Amino acid sequence: MTHVHDAVIVGAGFGGMGAAIQLRRMGYDDLVILEREDDLGGTWHVNRYPGLAVDIPSSTYSYSFEPNPHWSRLFAPGPELKAYAGHVADKYDLRRHMRFDTPVAGAHWDEDASHWVVTLEDGAEIAGRFLLTATGFLSQPKMPDIAGVDSFEGEVIHTTAWRDEVELEGKRIGIIGTGATAVQLIPKLGKLARHLTVYQRTPIYVSPKVDGKVPAPVRAVFAKAPISQKATRLVGSSILEVMMVAGVLHYRNAPWANAIGKRACQQHLKRQVKDPELRRKLTPDYDFGCKRPTFSNTYYPTLTQSHVDLETTSIDHVDATGIVTTDGRRADLDVLVLATGFNLWDANFPAIKIVGREGRDLGQWWRDNRFCAYEGISVPRFPNFISLNSPYSYSGLSYFTTIETQMAHMERLLGAMEEKGADVFEVKDEANDAFLDRMTELLGNSVFNAGSCATARSYYFNQHGEAVLLRPTSTISAHREAVRFPIDDYDYRRARVTA
Ligand code: NAP
Repeated sequence: MTHVHDAVIVGAGFGGMGAAIQLRRMGYDDLVILEREDDLGGTWHVNRYPGLAVDIPSSTYSYSFEPNPHWSRLFAPGPELKAYAGHVADKYDLRRHMRFDTPVAGAHWDEDASHWVVTLEDGAEIAGRFLLTATGFLSQPKMPDIAGVDSFEGEVIHTTAWRDEVELEGKRIGIIGTGATAVQLIPKLGKLARHLTVYQRTPIYVSPKVDGKVPAPVRAVFAKAPISQKATRLVGSSILEVMMVAGVLHYRNAPWANAIGKRACQQHLKRQVKDPELRRKLTPDYDFGCKRPTFSNTYYPTLTQSHVDLETTSIDHVDATGIVTTDGRRADLDVLVLATGFNLWDANFPAIKIVGREGRDLGQWWRDNRFCAYEGISVPRFPNFISLNSPYSYSGLSYFTTIETQMAHMERLLGAMEEKGADVFEVKDEANDAFLDRMTELLGNSVFNAGSCATARSYYFNQHGEAVLLRPTSTISAHREAVRFPIDDYDYRRARVTA
């Protein structure tokens, strides 16, 4: 007889680890965490490009129940996040549940047995009462649809597959993309390259970065009196919250709040770039917040250097030795860096094939209908399934607020199920529909619908032009709903067979 684990979790990043911690707290100890990479940490294990750092203050970008007094900077560098993930896994004894180099192909609900059957890419099957997917939003790298990239004879590196052994010093480097990743990487490349060409399709809003080392005495205070770090966290979270709620979600009622964000970025550009033509090229023509803005004090100054070119003419093709733009000009290159981001809407949602009750295929159903998950976590016809990277789940701020909101939802949901003597939960159609209606209405006030986002090319929007990635409520309200949602929004029942 197949062993049925309490839960199978797909993904050993911070989301998957948070879910495992919550399940362990509730007494579910027979867990399997499946991870396609060779170690834990998710995005902080995969991304290793020079300049990688968190872009949310570190006191906020961490579990509230596991503060880390040792962050070296206000915005910690990537390796510290990876080390923090390792620390959490050790402290909460999660490593024994993890299986690395184990890519998952798909999962289906076995209605007769009332459990999930997860199929690995090597064909093996693993069964679990609950299935939780924590596969991330920014986890499927996007290769640019540009002719000839494969024919380039120099080095090609996507930022998610950084190779330290590729020599950059003194080289002619081209980088495609000017998203948050490129903004962190370009200043580093600028220092190394003989010549750097930055290919920009859409400019990004860049605001000043209030960063710096956390002095040793402050770290000592954080370690001795964690309440002091909690206060710092509260300040950081509150500033982000106000920016998001007032500037982005309530755009229709408070366009002035959005204008403040836009102005701060424009002033930053004006201070750092004196050349009016370069400034014009770097000025976005869409509203602030349509696309994720970023922070940097070194991005614009790098672009003003004599050995750095900002190229805004479209790329026609790549050939063996460089990039040719549509006006026929070419740049010969030794190294081509693809900072082209991630494929959310074709390769993700969900990242694996998931088939629920009545043969409902989640990816197909989302595409044939509308993208939605009740409270950003559960979907009708998918019993005992918790989808941590769902439409309307992410606040757009610190991912940890989303993780902890979802942990709170799990606690209430699984607690209610146990209280009713049930083994299986499933969200009701009516609850899911009402949630979708409410989110759709709220989005009407946001910059995504009421503002001017048409030229932003933002990954917040899906293939139908709907901004369904972010939850259009404050994080406080999301958390309140996680601890108070009506228990009756779910059906609860006994499993047909108790394994
Ligand atoms: P991204 O924001 O999606 O940016 C991809 C860039 O590549 C864009 O500038 C895009 O141009 C360009 N691009 C893609 N395909 C192209 C093509 N065919 N031709 C020309 N240009 C092309 O991806 P990302 O920079 O990797 O950032 C993704 C997200 O990761 C960020 O928004 C942020 O949430 C997160 N991130 C976080 C941190 C952190 O510190 N926590 C750091 C880095 C990233 P268009 O805009 O015109 O499409």
